[in-house]
Amino acid sequence: MTTLSLQDQVAIVTGAGKGIGAALVAMLADEGVKVMMTARTAADLHAVQRDVLAKHPTAQLMVFPADVSDAEAVHSLVHATLDLWGRVDIVVNNAGVAPKFQLFQELSVSDIDKTIDINLKGPMYLMKAVLPHMIHQGEGGTIVNINSIAGSIPFAYSSVYCASKFGLKALTQCVADEQRMNNIKVLGIYPGEVHTPLQYQLRDHDTPDYSKMLDPENVAEAVRYALKQPDKSFVRDIVIESLLPSSVH
Ligand code: NAP
Repeated sequence: MTTLSLQDQVAIVTGAGKGIGAALVAMLADEGVKVMMTARTAADLHAVQRDVLAKHPTAQLMVFPADVSDAEAVHSLVHATLDLWGRVDIVVNNAGVAPKFQLFQELSVSDIDKTIDINLKGPMYLMKAVLPHMIHQGEGGTIVNINSIAGSIPFAYSSVYCASKFGLKALTQCVADEQRMNNIKVLGIYPGEVHTPLQYQLRDHDTPDYSKMLDPENVAEAVRYALKQPDKSFVRDIVIESLLPSSVH
């Protein structure tokens, strides 16, 4: 597979309804990639689809509402993609949630379950469902796991989010080593704070300077860079920070 052009490749993007996911869909459409978009809120997915089609009228974008923490729904997502386009070349595990900043003991069990189920088990379910098909295709592929600085540096008041992202880092690196023999590149992107809707529900009081945060498009450009590497070049991890002083991301 020539990875310098992504034209007509097939991608699945989770969390495609807003924030970084919406920017990823726009970047992939710009590259001529066919995109299966998922998130739980169908209306958000249709809004992103409309916006991207306004700029790229010939883009092939499909909407498949699903919850990534539901293994059966994820299985159906992969099969819907294969039924439509016959293959999967790119997966971006981007869907994620972050509980409000608080002490560990103040987090509810529901917050703990939701964060682990979506941020860690979601990518597990999707990689497990898609890898047999990518391997069978025999042409390699790329799986990008959108992680966070919080997956490399532990931050107080963000314990379970950090735990989910540290877990995702380990998962990413283990599967990367298992799949390199199949020319499947599995990598992590580790952004600092990004100005997306996720940021608005993290704090009760202080308001950060959103204008200094990364833009979702900055993350999408890092993914474009990783995807467009020549076959033999495997960019394993990309750390992308804003110039804000270090804080919880
Ligand atoms: P966002 O603006 O809140 O968007 C999150 C997207 O994920 C939404 O489309 C949401 O749609 C979807 N989603 C959430 N739970 C889902 C589920 N169970 N199943 C399917 N889709 C689900 O968040 P973002 O800031 O773009 O974050 C995207 C990724 O970047 C996350 O993994 C996050 O941890 C990571 N990240 C963010 C930042 C930051 O500062 N924003 C920094 C570093 C890393 P529905 O709710 O409709 O499902």
